[in-house]
Amino acid sequence: MNTLDFLIIGGGPAGLMAALAASDFGLKPLVIDENQKLGGQLIKQTHMFFGSKAERAGTRGFDIGTELAGEMEKRGIEIWSNSPAVGYYPDGTVAVLKNDKLHGLKPKAVLAATGASENFVTFPGSDLPGVYGAGAVQTLMNVYGIKPGQSVLMIGSGNIGLIVSYQLMQAGVQVKAIIEGLPNIGGYLVHASKIARAGVPILTRHTILEAVGEDQVKGAVISRIDDKWQPVAGSQQNIECDTICLAVGLTPLTEMLWQAGCQMNFVPELGGQVAWHDELMMTSIPGIFTAGDVTGIEEASTAMLEGELAGLGAVKYLKGDSKELQCRIDDTACRLAGLRAGPFGQKAREGKCKLKECRIKQV
Ligand SMILES: Cc1cc2nc3c(=O)[nH]c(=O)nc-3n(C[C@H](O)[C@H](O)[C@H](O)COP(=O)(O)OP(=O)(O)OC[C@H]3O[C@@H](n4cnc5c(N)ncnc54)[C@H](O)[C@@H]3O)c2cc1C
Repeated sequence: MNTLDFLIIGGGPAGLMAALAASDFGLKPLVIDENQKLGGQLIKQTHMFFGSKAERAGTRGFDIGTELAGEMEKRGIEIWSNSPAVGYYPDGTVAVLKNDKLHGLKPKAVLAATGASENFVTFPGSDLPGVYGAGAVQTLMNVYGIKPGQSVLMIGSGNIGLIVSYQLMQAGVQVKAIIEGLPNIGGYLVHASKIARAGVPILTRHTILEAVGEDQVKGAVISRIDDKWQPVAGSQQNIECDTICLAVGLTPLTEMLWQAGCQMNFVPELGGQVAWHDELMMTSIPGIFTAGDVTGIEEASTAMLEGELAGLGAVKYLKGDSKELQCRIDDTACRLAGLRAGPFGQKAREGKCKLKECRIKQV
């Protein structure tokens, strides 16, 4: 059995920033990730980030991942790659699989920064080869340089659907249409306008009825829907395509937090069941922290700042308070509030408010 101060599960933007912040104050964290390469979702994001310079606006996502991983290496922070955490036991042991061997780690503090998984929708033919999640399409194209097909129907007009559509177009793939069940486009209009200007129809209040094809996707039948999400008679259209890409949302990956017995609450604005946490990202169980998409689906920039807060929270939990630590906490919390200000942060703000109240009700 190994003991250590701070175990970070997940080497995405939240986990890496937590490790760097904790190391700024003398902790020696261990970061584990199930993948070979550090960076989480960042490794496949080829576009430049928005926001302020302090939050790395203007830098491409995969470059941010490389910078953070480089900084980890420079500081000698221990990393176990290809090492999934597979269980959390009542005595606080985290079971980690590394090189086909199960290791029992007993950290004094632990951070779940496990991210999110993609949602799926089912329809006749949804199990045909050629139906992909948007994350898989991004990985194929941007990590391995492989096009998923020649012509795509995109389902979902949130930022992921819009960004992946644009990346498909940049790779020379024809995007036949983007369809969206809601009455409005979900993602930023700046992304939607770029795609619409290139002639791709974005059809709101539309859904997919079925995928066409026997051994692989050859097309799709789509339809307009009414405000009860029922197909409107006579509005069906056939779209010829060899790929159907689903960008219909993400769900926080909370297994570790459930196993640990953290207080979980259903908050739709945050993407489903999430662990209650305080201002320093500590859950209802002292010493167990959570940050990033696992605490609510947002963006890489908010995940980084939540991770930073969790790393600082672990320092406070393990080493106590100091003036320097408090200044850094205040600064990070202020930058996070700044990112969530304005109309695009409204959903997250409301979700976090609801989550805060859940604890107050139970105490
Ligand atoms: C397809 C897609 C496109 C996106 N595009 C953008 C974008 O353009 N701009 C933007 O700002 N945001 C974008 N996002 C959102 C952004 O990437 C996420 O908000 C951000 O990566 C969340 O960071 P995270 O550290 O919480 O999780 P992740 O980046 O998902 O990292 C979590 C890491 O934990 C690992 N992990 C999970 N479970 C375990 C376990 N049990 N043991 C060990 N390791 C584990 C995962 O493999 C992963 O490496 C996108 C997300 C997706 C899915």
